[in-house]
Amino acid sequence: MCLFCKIINKEIPANIILEDSNFIAFHDINPKAPVHILAIPKIHVDSFNEISSELMAKMTTFIQDVAKEVNIEKSGYRVITNVGDNGGQEVKHLHFHILGGARLKWGHFADADPQGHF
Ligand code: AMP
Repeated sequence: MCLFCKIINKEIPANIILEDSNFIAFHDINPKAPVHILAIPKIHVDSFNEISSELMAKMTTFIQDVAKEVNIEKSGYRVITNVGDNGGQEVKHLHFHILGGARLKWGHFADADPQGHF
């Protein structure tokens, strides 16, 4: 069973923000912003490549509800999902990073020159 499935099953503790029948949101163990939450589907989906449009529609509402729950919906936030090796995905259970609580930096993500890819 994957790490996040164990969190869903309450076999591994997590600091849970919001939960319903389809999704769960909890604080990232290694926060990269003052607010750093992970929102995940309860069914195991490997990555964004595999999620259905029906479940993604519900996931969108859940992420919006998480942002309201922690009061960052007005101040602003960033939603990121890393996909695969180049995306830097370490946990192979779809998760959306919800980052906020401060002005986030926006920069040069790749080791390679971005101009070289167009
Ligand atoms: P990614 O690199 O997109 O796969 O992100 C995985 C995220 O999971 C990282 O930000 C980790 O800090 C976070 N993480 C790993 N283990 C745990 C855990 N037990 N509880 C909460 N967050 C975790």
